[in-house]
Parts: sequence; structure tokens; C-alpha cells
Amino acid sequence: MHAQDSSSSLIDLGKRYWLPVYRPREVVLDHGKGARVWDTEGRDYVDLGAGIAVNALGHQDPDLVDALVTQARKLWHSSNVFYTEPPLHLAEELVQASGFAERVFLCNSGTEANEAAIKLVRKWAASKGRAPEQRVILTFRGSFHGRTLAAVTATAQPKYQENYEPLPGGFRYLDFNDVAGLEAAFAQGDVAAVMLEPVQGEGGVLPASPAFIRRARELCDTHEALLVLDEIQCGMGRTGTLFAHAQDGVTPDIVTLAKALGCGFPIGAMLAGPKVAEVMQYGAHGTTFGGNPMAAAVARVALRKLASAELMANVAKQAQALRDGLAAIDGELKLFAEVRGRGLMLGAVLAEAYKGRAGEVLDHAAAHGLLVLQAGPDVLRFVPPLNITDADLAEGLARLRAALADFVGKR
Ligand SMILES: *Cc1c(COP(=O)(O)O)cnc(C)c1O
Repeated sequence: MHAQDSSSSLIDLGKRYWLPVYRPREVVLDHGKGARVWDTEGRDYVDLGAGIAVNALGHQDPDLVDALVTQARKLWHSSNVFYTEPPLHLAEELVQASGFAERVFLCNSGTEANEAAIKLVRKWAASKGRAPEQRVILTFRGSFHGRTLAAVTATAQPKYQENYEPLPGGFRYLDFNDVAGLEAAFAQGDVAAVMLEPVQGEGGVLPASPAFIRRARELCDTHEALLVLDEIQCGMGRTGTLFAHAQDGVTPDIVTLAKALGCGFPIGAMLAGPKVAEVMQYGAHGTTFGGNPMAAAVARVALRKLASAELMANVAKQAQALRDGLAAIDGELKLFAEVRGRGLMLGAVLAEAYKGRAGEVLDHAAAHGLLVLQAGPDVLRFVPPLNITDADLAEGLARLRAALADFVGKR
């Protein structure tokens, strides 16, 4: 940036030149360290949003920086027409860490991982001789699977789909955690896959009940369908285990990852289990940037660090501290109907009187030096770095309390 640029003149550039699809808080972030970020005016923020559950090791983790810089001095990109070393190792390490997958497709984002999963489901069903009408994918209200056309069609929320019709066919939407509805949907005999988030993120930080996921697995087995788990937000240690589904006692056929996989460097992955690992053959799918050596070099280090028992112990510890802190704030200010989620993926649901006002809370939070997220209009979402320290979390909670007191006072 130019030294004379004030943050307001920078923000004007965004307002003038960006496609106006975002509404960022009026802050220009400049640099970060751990769970702290500084803006261009020198103000500091505690970061409990981690770039939407992406910066799982905080900002400027030295091992990630080393991996990136080392690879940057060797080779940036080769395309998948030639091998490079980092994505070869990364694929092996993801397969080993998953305990179920046999093969990996590397890509660049969450939506792209889900597109690959949707295409794989369809191709698998085709390989079983099923007609196109017999290749239905069941998804759930409140889900979020991405913004490309098939992924947004999988996303069973009208607000993301409106006016993008015609949407691709072959999706049917059900209520989340409704076992009877799921059983009824399978009875139609046309289901090729169930696709769900073990913890719905954008839809309000809502965990699937373990009984629901297990029933989905059973129904998929009985009806020869695939279980696809979108762990783009809840995976990579976020819920206290490397894979969220490890806590549900199910083995999926396909898992998608992105967000924290590169801890801030863009990368996505689709992991394919034994039923589907050989279904897509030469020419069936591809991407120019997927498995980029820089992204893969960073993701290898991220995977190693996110899988560590020490880090998972910190997730459990800080999750409890965050829940305790939110309960204390609620005891004083009576703002929340409920706090839900798993591990360091928590949602504070606003009480009836404050419904629809999560965005306003975020404005107050930013003014008090705190970055948090919403998950829809009614839920405050907390997805801090998984290595957050006691001190940073305590400071974040203190700023949250101040912001919420302000919010309630100004009502
Ligand atoms: C963020 C997200 C996606 C989409 O990922 P992008 O990288 O934004 O394309 C898909 N599924 C879930 C569960 C997500 O949280």
C-alpha cells in the first residue's frame, strides 16, 4: 500500500471496484501474529473468527511460513501434467490420517472439493447402471456446500439459490437430524448419496446427532448409496478430532476438506474411500491449480500440526474456557438462548429479543477490538485458532463482554 492511504480511502477502492457481493466490516487488516491481528491504523484485534475457520494455527505460524518460503524458492507451479513432490506426500499423508480413504483429489477451495464429490457420486451411480433419475443426492436444510452451481444447489437454503435458476437437477432437501424423513426419502428408491456436514457451519453451528449420521450410514448401506461428509469447516481438528466424524462412529465414502487444510493458503481436497476410489479414471476430472506445490507444502505441515495430540488437548481445554466465558457473559447480560457446537466450533444463539441482530453485534465487537463471525442472522459463531492461548482467549472474552454490554445498552 501507499504510505498515505488511509483505511477509509482503501475501503473506498473496494466499494468502487469490487463486485459488491460482500459487506466487510470497515476495517483494513494489515498483519497478524497468533490469535491477534492489526489493522492499517495500528489497532489490534483478538481473532476469534480465524478467517472463517481457516487460520487454525493462527497467523504467521513459523513452521507454515518456513514451508511456504522454502517451496517458493524452489517451484511454484507445474500443473498436473507433471509431478511435484509436495502433493504426492500430502495425498499419502491424508490417506493415512483418514483411516478410510484410498485416494485423494486435490483442488483449490471447498466448493471445488464438493463439485468433485457430486460428480464422483454421479459417475459411481452411472457405473452401477443407474439412469440419471436414479442418482439423487439428499442434502439438508441449513446446509452450506459452496457457491458454484452444483454446490449451491446442494446447499438447501433458498437465499443462496434465488435467481440462479435453472439449477442442476437431482438433489432433494430434507430436514436435518430428522431420521424419519431420511427413511422416507430412501423409500423412493432413487437415492445415490447422502451429503451432510457433521456440524452445519453457515447454517447456524448445528451438530448432526450421532444417531442421525449413523442411521444415514445404515440407510446408505442398505440402499447402495454413498455417505458424503462435508468437513470443509468442521474438519482438520476443529471439533477436537482431526476428522469430525471420528466422534460419530461412522465410516464415510467421501470426505471433502478445505478451509483449515492450508491454514490460510488456498487448497481443497476430496478423499475417496474404497467404493469410489477407482471410479474416475483418466480424463474424468481435473484442475490446473489443484495440488499446487506451494499449497501442498503448507498443507503437509498444517496436517502434521493439526493432527497432534497436544493441539487436540488445547482444543478441548479452550472449548471449555470459551463455553464457560459465554455462560458467564450470558449470566450477566441474558443474551443467548443456547450455546451449541463441538470443540472450537461454537455458536451462541441470540435470545428471542435479539433475533436477527447478529450483524450488529459484530459491528460492536470490531469496535471493541474483536473479530467474530455470525452464522446467519441469529447466531454468533466462534471459530478461533486451535492453538489460541489462555491469555488471548481471556482477552477475547473480555472484549466480547464489553461489546455485548454496549450492544444491549444502546438498544
Ligand atoms: C466454506 C464452506 C464451503 C465452501 O468452501 P469455499 O472454499 O468457500 O468454496 C463448503 N462447505 C462448507 C461446510 C463450508 O463451510
